[in-house]
Parts: sequence; structure tokens; C-alpha cells
Amino acid sequence: RSESPSTCPVLTKFQRDCATPKPFLRKVADAISDDMRAGLAVQGGGDLDMILTFVDALPSGKEEGLFYALDLGGTNFRVRSVELGGKEKRVVAAESEQLSIPHELMIGTSEQLFGFIASKLADFVAKEKPGQFPLEQGRKREIGFTFSFPVYQTSIDSGTLIKWTKGFHVSGMEGKNVVACLNEAMEAHGLDMRVSALVNDGVGTLAGARYWDEDVMVGVILGTGTNACYVEQKSAIPKLQNKSSSGTTVINTEWGGFSKILPRTIFDQEMDKESLNPGEHLYEKMISGMYLGEIVRRVLLQMCKTSDLFGQFVPVKLSSPFALRTEDLCKMQEDNTDDLMSVGSFLYNFLEVEANLKARRRVVEVCDTVVKRGGRLAGAGIVAILEKIENETKRMASGQRTVVAIDGALYEKYPQYRRYMQDSLVELLGHDLASHVVIKHTKDVSGLGAALLAATNSIY
Ligand code: ADP
Repeated sequence: RSESPSTCPVLTKFQRDCATPKPFLRKVADAISDDMRAGLAVQGGGDLDMILTFVDALPSGKEEGLFYALDLGGTNFRVRSVELGGKEKRVVAAESEQLSIPHELMIGTSEQLFGFIASKLADFVAKEKPGQFPLEQGRKREIGFTFSFPVYQTSIDSGTLIKWTKGFHVSGMEGKNVVACLNEAMEAHGLDMRVSALVNDGVGTLAGARYWDEDVMVGVILGTGTNACYVEQKSAIPKLQNKSSSGTTVINTEWGGFSKILPRTIFDQEMDKESLNPGEHLYEKMISGMYLGEIVRRVLLQMCKTSDLFGQFVPVKLSSPFALRTEDLCKMQEDNTDDLMSVGSFLYNFLEVEANLKARRRVVEVCDTVVKRGGRLAGAGIVAILEKIENETKRMASGQRTVVAIDGALYEKYPQYRRYMQDSLVELLGHDLASHVVIKHTKDVSGLGAALLAATNSIY
């Protein structure tokens, strides 16, 4: 009989520390709910920022005309045009182009960065055939601008940059209105275009998914990072300036910032300490794609050092931060052969180690532990949002279907993660409520969503 993979002390302790039994998950969901409420009451009231997006109207399907979307969130940016034909015809035509931002512009001036974007946008527009949507005198084409950096939003079409992230360091931009920067650059390039909606990719996903399905109430991103946005009743937002307002609005939860009562192991603590934002975004550090591989690497390294994972051998590569990617965990977990052949060959190629079956099993067990915890915690976050919606609307209790739209490669490509997430959702919500919830993978709808929000928020 082969030895159980969990007889390794480091692994046994790690599994125990990562456990997320139902009562504990319930506490996590409740703590997230509490922070959601605190963040809705006052700015900075809880770990979740609960940012007002000023998106009060979501796409209905009736939108018509030619709209654009511009997506800047990393080293690439994407431009697209969407021809909307109303309820019946929907998206009549769409064009898109992806371009990369030269590195020197990521650390240059705002004039250079936005000048570059505007010039590429001008090239894109110049390729269009004279359209069936002639511009009326004095009007401009409208753009939905997805800007995935921290922004303090001041209206649907303005927001100031709080700080650059992801390798960007454009001088003199912090505290400036990013929409004004883009509008000025477009004007300088002679473009008859204006930004009508400034959104993040979670809001874009929610809006794009809502266009095809009116029961979509939540948009979640599970990729390198994570975030969630949802439709909230204005009456449930004490911090809203206009107290008498009715109807709904979209809240950007920034849930990655949640940092209470999470099951942090020594490996999580060490990874956090060495991160760019120690002590912050602990939820994101447990559930998003950027970190899952890194946690596994740290555990494996410790197992090599103290539990002879690969005999006396400690592979050099295992000491290199972020060397193991979340994609690699997924690949290893795909192996369902008895002797874990492809896990063996991955370890051989990656670490130059001949891992015996026991070692292969242990490695997979570590991957599964981290992914299980991540998926289940992500499920608890979704439950917190669904229960908040239910508390305000009772829509599920009255039998109404409620859809959560999810985008991001972690969710899309990691079946075990998806399954653990779904399991925890049903465990916490119970079968009755869960039977009205649909989790939908919506790939790449955030650009369409941004263009639609430009239409919904058109000034004309
Ligand atoms: P973004 O960087 O905008 O979030 P994606 O949605 O493409 O973009 O997410 C990329 C992240 O998804 C990667 O950093 C990785 O963590 C995760 N990922 C990508 N491919 C896989 C895969 N095959 N299995 C598991 N996770 C993956």
C-alpha cells in the first residue's frame, strides 16, 4: 500500500492551517458582508472600498449607434468600435485592435502617453469605411474608457488617478483627471471624440454581460488580480450624497482589499511581508492567479528543506520568487494517470528533479490545498454579495434568477478552482437559494460593456 501523501509534517500542518470548513467559510462571508456595509456607510469604513461608479443605468439591449471602447490596464491597450443595432439586431459589427505601450511611455509624461493613445485611436478611426452613422453637426463620437488603475471617480465621465500600479510611472498624473487628459489629447489630434463613461474592467464585465442577460447582477474578475462589482439599491448606500435618490447603482467593491480573519499560514505571511503592499489585499493574495503558484512554491521549498520532498535535493529554481506559476499548478492537476506521469515530467523539466510517486502526490496535494482554499474563499465572497442583494431585493426568494458573470483566465482555465468555488457557494447559500443562482463565464465582454456604457451615458 502506498503511503498517503499527507504523512509529511509540513504538508499536514499546511493542510490544517488552510482548512475552510463550512462554519469558518460562513464567518468569512459574514465578515465580508460587514465590511461591505461599513464601506457603504462611510468612505474607508471597512476593508472594502465600495466605490461609487456613477453607473446608474446598465445596458438594456435597445442601444443604437456607433460607439467606441478604449482599454488601458497594463502593457497592452485595446481600441474597439461597436455598431449597435437595437433590441433585435444587437451588435451589428465590431472591430478591435490591440497595441502595446512602449516601455518608455509607461514612465514618461502624461502628454506622451495620452498623445500616443490618441494617435493610435486616430489611425484606427482612419481605417473605417465612411459609416452609416454620420456625425451630426457639433457632436462627437463617444467612448467608454476602461482604465484599470486606482481611480477616485467623481462622475460617470471623470475620475482622478490615485496612484499608478503595474509598472506605470507617468509623471505628474496623480490627482489629475484621467478623462480630461485623454480628451485633451484627442482634441490635439483633431479627433471628434469624447469619453462618456470611465469604468473599470469589473464594471465593464457586468455591463457587457447584462446586455445579453438582464438577470446579471454581479460581475467578478478572477485573473491575475480579482475584483467584484454588483448592482445595489441606492437606498442601501448611506454615504451617497443625494439621500433621496431611488433606483439602483453599480458598486465597485474592490474586494481584494478584504483582510480580516483569513486562514493565513506562515507561507502567506512571508509572501505578504515581501510583497509591494504588505498587510494589504490579503484576500486577493489568497484567491487570485498572481499568488497561488507562489504560495505553492514556498510550501514545496520548505518541504524540500525539512521533509526531504526530493530526498536531500533542494532544487535551485524553487528558491526563485514567482518561478512557479498558477498555470503550472493547473497543468499538474490535469494529470489523472495513476503514476502522475506528466507531474513527473513537469517537475523534471522545471526543477531538474526525478520525483518518485510519493513526491509527485505530495506536490499535487499542495497545489490542491492552495487552490481549494482559494476557490472556496472566492465562493464565500460571491455569497456575501448575493446575500446583500437578496437582503435588499428578495429576488431569489421570489424565484428570480440571479446571474453572476465571471471573467478572467484563472476562472476560465482552472476547473478545480471553479468546482471548489461552486461547492462553497452551494454549501453557504443552501440548495434553495443556490438553485436560483447562475454562474456564467463571460469572456472578454468588458470592452463591449464599456462601449455600451458610453451609449447608456451618452450626453446627446
Ligand atoms: P489579467 O492579467 O487581466 O487578469 P487574465 O484574465 O488573462 O488577465 O488572467 C491571467 C492570469 O490567470 C495569470 O496571471 C494566471 O494567474 C491565471 N492563468 C492563466 N492561465 C491559466 C491556466 N491555464 N490555469 C490557471 N490559471 C491561469
